[in-house]
Amino acid sequence: MNKYVARVMEDLKAKQPWEKEFLQAAEEVLSSLSAVLDRDSKYEKNKILERMVVPERIIMFQVPWVDDKGQIQVNQGYRVQFNSAIGPYKGGLRFHPSVNLGILKFLGFEQVFKNALTTLPMGGGKGGSNFDPKGKSDNEVRSFCNAFMRELYRHIGPSTDVPAGDIGVGGREIGYLFGQYKRIVNSYDSVLTGKALNWGGSLIRPEATGYGNVYFAQEMLAVKGESIEGKTALVSGSGNVAQYTVEKLNQLGAKAITMSDSNGTVLDMDGITPEKLEWVKNLKNVKRGRMAEYVKKFKKAKYFEGARPWALAKADMALPSATQNEIELKDAKALVKGGIKLVSEGANMPSTPEAIEVYFANNITYAPGKASNAGGVATSGLEMSQNAMRLSWTSEEVDEKLHGIMKSIHKTAYETAAEYGTPGNYMNGANIAGFKKVADSMIDQGF
Ligand code: NDP
Repeated sequence: MNKYVARVMEDLKAKQPWEKEFLQAAEEVLSSLSAVLDRDSKYEKNKILERMVVPERIIMFQVPWVDDKGQIQVNQGYRVQFNSAIGPYKGGLRFHPSVNLGILKFLGFEQVFKNALTTLPMGGGKGGSNFDPKGKSDNEVRSFCNAFMRELYRHIGPSTDVPAGDIGVGGREIGYLFGQYKRIVNSYDSVLTGKALNWGGSLIRPEATGYGNVYFAQEMLAVKGESIEGKTALVSGSGNVAQYTVEKLNQLGAKAITMSDSNGTVLDMDGITPEKLEWVKNLKNVKRGRMAEYVKKFKKAKYFEGARPWALAKADMALPSATQNEIELKDAKALVKGGIKLVSEGANMPSTPEAIEVYFANNITYAPGKASNAGGVATSGLEMSQNAMRLSWTSEEVDEKLHGIMKSIHKTAYETAAEYGTPGNYMNGANIAGFKKVADSMIDQGF
């Protein structure tokens, strides 16, 4: 490891040893940068790594709200404004009981590099709360969202910080948050993305992360002279990213055989066809039900309580689309055993460092989330552009732009990996390309 990187990492670990996910994300990125730091001393001279690993600003606040029994509940709210070198802070809000500052710092840090890869002018940020929308009524979710925005509104704005959705924050939550923002500031600002079509949303935004990940996998396969048609995939999750991953796989003639949630995994060797997927969408998005119900409807499928998809069947590729660290060492070994040749990450940091080592050791083509799942934030960027112009592009126009952006991210990661001596290593390529764009902009802008 480059001495400068080792020093910064050591310092970071000493200061925040408890922020495990953030340290994991920082170490993955910084260890990829040796070649670029060895070539040019300007980054060390300008203390770029030291500045990049500390958010420009962290906002933490209380969120008191009233539940359906009339009781006051209190949650913790956060916004981590990580880096604004190339544009306003941009990144999602996560509502999940596991949310803490370390997790949001990891997500915000990843977002900085991801956004730099999209070709659009967006800095990186992330926010959220330890609030759990699961099992809450619409009334309770609205009460929470109103209280959350009552504080957040003063820290965001169309040229300052533009949040979006993430785990636990879908169309319903974005609606409540936007409504409350508008009531408070009395201005119809493009201050959130992932809005509904009637009030400023973009076509293809809900689909974008999943579609984009499949486009990225398609590009990686094309480099190897292969087509996605006829391939079988293990997909995890059953939320936004997973649903549209399965949809695009179906459209391109591939087959998803698993979907999951935090309780367990469904294995359907006949494939989760478009008809079955519509049923899943209704189950998850409207009824807010559990994947266990799938096997009651589709009797040939099997449900594995408490299991992840990775060891359940042989397949050609894995598209993890649920959460961080969902592929650990044993899971990666199971993927190798099951004949997986490609892993393209829809979720953020779903593979542990040990799992990634297994991919490289076994010649699995591997795309890190910051490259392969960047389609979501890229399309959020397109939503901001449409809002600024006060017009809407058609589905075809947005999808074409999304597809073009994913091809461009693939090309950049692929070519940068080769330029810095690690051909085929998309992780190094994505980290180096994202880093250079942000770091050079920071140097240009002084401090
Ligand atoms: P959703 O809330 O729509 O869906 C999340 C899915 O993952 C659900 O099926 C959920 O199951 C499952 N899940 C969540 N936590 C766990 C866990 N600890 N163990 C097992 N399963 C879990 O979120 P998204 O689909 O939006 O996000 C999924 C991933 O993609 C996240 O890593 C997110 O950061 C990333 N991402 C999302 C983008 C977007 O545009 N939405 C953009 C880029 C990345 P359950 O229903 O049981 O909670």
